[in-house]
Amino acid sequence: PEASRWIQMDALQVTRLLPRLHDNDYKNTTGRLTVIAGSPWMAGAAQFNLEAAQAMGCGMLHALVDPAVYPILQAACPHIVYHPNTLSEADLTALLNQSDAVAIGSGCDHLANLETVLERVLHCSSVPVILDAAALRCLARHPEWLNTPHGDWILTPHVGEFSALCGRSVEEIQADRIRCAEEYALAHQVTLVLKGADTLIISPEGLRCVNKTGNPSLAKAGSGDLLTGMIAALAARGLTPMEAACCGVWLHGKAADKAIEKTSLYGVHHKEILAGLDAFLFDHQ
Ligand code: AMP
Ligand code: MG
Repeated sequence: PEASRWIQMDALQVTRLLPRLHDNDYKNTTGRLTVIAGSPWMAGAAQFNLEAAQAMGCGMLHALVDPAVYPILQAACPHIVYHPNTLSEADLTALLNQSDAVAIGSGCDHLANLETVLERVLHCSSVPVILDAAALRCLARHPEWLNTPHGDWILTPHVGEFSALCGRSVEEIQADRIRCAEEYALAHQVTLVLKGADTLIISPEGLRCVNKTGNPSLAKAGSGDLLTGMIAALAARGLTPMEAACCGVWLHGKAADKAIEKTSLYGVHHKEILAGLDAFLFDHQ
């Protein structure tokens, strides 16, 4: 029946799903995430992915980056293990094999070998892959990758990126977001996060969730990079793709709602969002 396809998220539900820390945990049991993000002129996207994943409690973070942005990232996020994007095929495969999730695409617009790396990640990784931004545009150019059997993919497009993926106009999508998103998620067997006010999340089985947290302080470059890091961290901690997506989207919006208790709608930046996230987690850990 129609009603049973809707998932309701609230503070209680999210709190139930939150990965707990145990006394005998160590970095390899608290989520091993590989982030492929940033590129020359867009280093910040990688920083936002990484800081958000860390704020979500992810224990072991690896980042594959362009050597040109490495010094900036090393200074901004010193607790990450970095690798050059020119890693050999064997070394990349080894890195993927020791990851619990992979996030790829945020700020990768100028990453020279994105297409090669993405193809490798999509076809060699047996763990959830979160695709954002440039990775989604690359996927739109390679529909054949979608049409072969694949693992757990979580796609996080805003409406413009989704338009490129599904071949419909933005107007057509906005007129019937649920039908467009559902058709796509079912046809291609992906978890789809169609972002915007009232972000819509659809599982490959057709489960749906409309998110009600968040506010226009998020209508700002960088917001999506934080979301990708949060969803990826939750997937690395073992939540299912649908749980990670719903929980990540809800927390991202909630963090922004907490942020505007202390900051104007204009003044919210990534630091305020991360502080908002931590304020919620502090009360619900
Ligand atoms: P991106 O477009 O990739 O930077 O992602 C923007 C993020 O902010 C997404 O998670 C959106 O859902 C969220 N966002 C943008 N505008 C709004 C809004 N008006 N209300 C709530 N969330 C928003
Ligand atoms: Mg984005």
